[in-house]
Amino acid sequence: MKHGFVALVGAGPGDKGLITLRGAELLSKADVVVYDRLVSHEIIKMIPPEVEKIDVGKENKFHLVKQEDINRILLNKSLEGKNVIRLKGGDPFVFGRGGEELELLQENDIPFEVVPGVTSAVAALCYGGIPATHRDFCSSMHIITGHAREGGQLSIPFNELKELNGTLVFLMGLSSLAYLMKGLLNAGMDKDMPAAIIENGTRPNQRKLVATVGTLEQKALEMGIKSPAIIAVGKVCTLSDKFNWFMKKPLFGTKVLVTRPKASSSTIVEKLRQLGAEPLEYPCIEVVPIPQNEKLCSVCEKLSEYGWILFTSKNGIQIFFDYLNSQGLDARVLANIKIGTVGSQTARALKEVGLISDFTPEIFDGSHLAQGVSQLVGENEKVLICDAAIASDDIVNIFNNNNIKFDRVPLYHTNYINENSDEIRKMIIDGELKYITFTSASTVEGFMASVKDIPLGSLTAVCIGNQTAQAAKKYNLTYVISEKSTIDSITDKLLEIGGGNIDD
Ligand code: SAH
Repeated sequence: MKHGFVALVGAGPGDKGLITLRGAELLSKADVVVYDRLVSHEIIKMIPPEVEKIDVGKENKFHLVKQEDINRILLNKSLEGKNVIRLKGGDPFVFGRGGEELELLQENDIPFEVVPGVTSAVAALCYGGIPATHRDFCSSMHIITGHAREGGQLSIPFNELKELNGTLVFLMGLSSLAYLMKGLLNAGMDKDMPAAIIENGTRPNQRKLVATVGTLEQKALEMGIKSPAIIAVGKVCTLSDKFNWFMKKPLFGTKVLVTRPKASSSTIVEKLRQLGAEPLEYPCIEVVPIPQNEKLCSVCEKLSEYGWILFTSKNGIQIFFDYLNSQGLDARVLANIKIGTVGSQTARALKEVGLISDFTPEIFDGSHLAQGVSQLVGENEKVLICDAAIASDDIVNIFNNNNIKFDRVPLYHTNYINENSDEIRKMIIDGELKYITFTSASTVEGFMASVKDIPLGSLTAVCIGNQTAQAAKKYNLTYVISEKSTIDSITDKLLEIGGGNIDD
């Protein structure tokens, strides 16, 4: 049997933008991914769902899976002919025991590749606003482990380190912080030498402590600093305020719950991340095409009767065209029909099937779509409305008032879902979560169904337009409404109410 292939890949320190292109490419082609605790959730989410994932996360004191067992998993999976990725935090060869994992593969002639990663030793400093070196302060940096081998004694050459006058970065050093600082002081280092700790570097929950060699331990205790964290010693630490770019992002440290379905949440999630927020994906609804949709079947047989067709969501467009395609038809059957779309996203989805919307209202909602189209419809033209089973009657009412002839085809049901609701409920009760975004009335309904009866007084909902806000109001939620029905407008609103939440 053909042997598989093993790639030891550095995942970087957490921020998903910090994995290499080669690493991401290999991940997308893997059969099996073996990862540990330091690999961030964001990076794990990049692994395609069909790939087998094996968590060998190591705890501090005990090992969840022993090193020998990890080595064996890599060997066995590759002997099965699989492409195996061993994903490790930071760089695999920087205190990552990468070498040990390759030995067995090498002995068994398994082909392997090693993809370097951005080590936390550099990245956590960088996201803490601390340049690893700076010509005015030092000319070298040194990466040192603060952790002894099992059963061994930590022995660090403090005198030599002190003489180097460089930036010292300790990994795995928290449990020996007192020993490290004492060692440096005993070697004659000035007690006022700047020192820093970056906890959860490059992640949305990053924390930073800047002090001196004399005070670092006490302050770390006061702040309750936990692993993973790097410890830095050197004059460059004084620059951390001046170059504090990451934690100064306007929504840094702010958790925001995103309730739209996973398939459509990537834009808002990415935008929130850029602003420094921590988006928590909590899809409260899922869109399910109506099975054996007889109405859709029958209107598609007489499309030539319609002068206009209206789409009120991207989902609707996808389902409509999937149906056409399943019948061996495509966009050409709409050649003589004008098309209206509720907003810019829907218009964009239409473009993806090669069609340009004839009308999109300035205000992206059903009422404005119906008002606008009412002005444009020819005397004998009939309109086909393609929307959701639970859609409001806004469009229908306006068309009735304006004597517009129409047919309506619901294309999908909206189901309420609630994965991980215990975790989210706890966060709300503990006051850890302040903001939630709703992009439709159904997301409000889905959310309320999932959290049930806990108090929601500490939450502020950002709603995308009036209909969504009405749903929030019905449940007495505190809410604000975005100026426009766009994702940008939601994040602008969040910046307005939540910006300046700097946690440092
Ligand atoms: N190969 C990894 C290091 C593994 S040793 C790398 O190159 O980054 C584990 C130590 O790395 C932790 O104890 C901590 O000191 C450091 N570390 C890893 N990720 C970190 C992060 N996101 N923020 C701060 N320190 C981190």
